[in-house]
Amino acid sequence: MLRSTPAVLAVTIFHVASAAKESCCDALTASRVAGQVTYPGHGAYNASLASYFDGKSRLPPSCIVQPRTAEDVSTIVQILVREDAQSGSCKFAVRSGGHTPIPGSNNIENGITIDLLYMNTTTYDADSQIASIKPAARWGSVYQTLEPLGRMVAGGRGSTVGVGGFLLGGGISHYAPRVGLSCDNVVNFQVVLANGSIVNANKTSNADLFTALKGASSNFGIVTRYDMETFESEDLWGGIVTYPASTANHHFRALANFGSNPDRDPNAALIVFQGYSTASPTDVVRAAFDYTKPVVRPDAYQEFFEVNTNISDTTKLQPMSAIAAEFGSDTTKRVQFRTLSYKIDLATLQETARLYKIVITELQAEASGQWRVSCLHQVWATSYTANSIARGGNVLGMERYTENFIMYQSYLSWSESKDDELFIGLGKMLTDGIQKFAREKDTAIDYLYLNYADKDQDPLSGYGAGKVAFMKAVAEKVGKPQKDDPLSVFDDTNNLSENKTEDMDFTVLNLEKPDA
Ligand SMILES: Cc1cc2nc3c(=O)[nH]c(=O)nc-3n(C[C@H](O)[C@H](O)[C@H](O)COP(=O)(O)OP(=O)(O)OC[C@H]3O[C@@H](n4cnc5c(N)ncnc54)[C@H](O)[C@@H]3O)c2cc1C
Repeated sequence: MLRSTPAVLAVTIFHVASAAKESCCDALTASRVAGQVTYPGHGAYNASLASYFDGKSRLPPSCIVQPRTAEDVSTIVQILVREDAQSGSCKFAVRSGGHTPIPGSNNIENGITIDLLYMNTTTYDADSQIASIKPAARWGSVYQTLEPLGRMVAGGRGSTVGVGGFLLGGGISHYAPRVGLSCDNVVNFQVVLANGSIVNANKTSNADLFTALKGASSNFGIVTRYDMETFESEDLWGGIVTYPASTANHHFRALANFGSNPDRDPNAALIVFQGYSTASPTDVVRAAFDYTKPVVRPDAYQEFFEVNTNISDTTKLQPMSAIAAEFGSDTTKRVQFRTLSYKIDLATLQETARLYKIVITELQAEASGQWRVSCLHQVWATSYTANSIARGGNVLGMERYTENFIMYQSYLSWSESKDDELFIGLGKMLTDGIQKFAREKDTAIDYLYLNYADKDQDPLSGYGAGKVAFMKAVAEKVGKPQKDDPLSVFDDTNNLSENKTEDMDFTVLNLEKPDA
């Protein structure tokens, strides 16, 4: 997915257009996974495309293959590698929930999409208290399976979000202040590597791959099972409270105090966001409260509760599955995510509001159809680091930060394809403007959260040079079909340098030979 720069994306598209081979799909159709291959015009093919979260991402692959088991995935990888060696190029993409709104990240025009749709179950082992979750499960289904067993995992906040991409990018859950990032709650990944082998990556087996998979997305193989730590399932107090836009400054102050409080209650999670939607055209501020213990209106949010002029309030005690359903959204719209980070600073928060208003005014004048803009602010806590280290570490480079900061996300959605350029351009203007202000005021933080990054953003560089070198070494080790093979299946390590992280090809898995 990621997060290629426009230049890299262009190269990818060129390769695909020139080298996509019918023979790759033919080879799958002639194999034991024949019944799992679907072509344009088939019901399964159309259903797969229609289920992408972002309308822009419904690119037409030459064929889609929908494996049922890790062995099927292994067969598919081996066929595509072999066919590539014989006939040129079999580019392929991997999809779990299909929620990343970057065309080409989880799908591929004229290549092969490996859609893990049917690998979607969750099982629980009471002895180890580990939940084994298949990649295309949606978090809502995970919670519905675990809650009746009295167990819970630190997963996505929205029920519709996929497990596969979420965990490989880090994963921020309501439980993050308590148990850290979701990827650090994975104790074992089952992975299909470039040579078709099915391996486990955990603290004692393939330990470097285990670390690299926590944050570096799809660069090393196809994950076919995630084994996660569980904890006791309890009702949460949470929901979304909507306030008039005039309360923005109070909310920013409260967020700054909440985020910089060294004694913050680890059960208290929060997102503050400004939002405007044509469906309900009022400029508002929202607070999404999520307290992970069954306590109504906990003291942790006291400063937010001082505003008593809310427009609506959905907060209540409820199980995680119900909160996730409220946060879940299916969309048939076109979507852009962008992200950046900055120090906890009132002036920078206020600047986001100023730029957001400019964007809304511009869209009111120019855009057609239905659309929505949200600017979300959440605290990135240094406690994530300690949780990570205790569980084997990840590649996010979080240990460099000694103070909490704000992780910002803009989320634009719109209905009309003719407005793509308008929304994408204004979304970029918004984050560029915030970043310029933060740099001038010395509040900028160079960390970009991968799961919210756009295609021209480069989150891996933000992990730091040492982590980039480590990821490159792991990719070298596991990314080749055979030890001395020049072919790199899951990345483009030949082009990877410490300041060119975008050349790791995150989604359109690169089967090009380096000298091709
Ligand atoms: C409505 C919504 C709510 C969200 N809420 C949150 C949130 O609360 N917290 C948060 O941290 N993020 C959140 N996100 C972002 C989300 O984490 C990412 O979009 C994530 O990639 C979604 O996972 P997916 O399985 O749907 O990914 P997909 O779109 O299927 O894939 C994303 C990337 O991961 C790769 N990939 C997927 N599965 C595998 C696999 N099994 N093996 C190897 N590579 C794989 C794909 O090739 C692709 O590059 C949200 C997104 C949306 C749209």
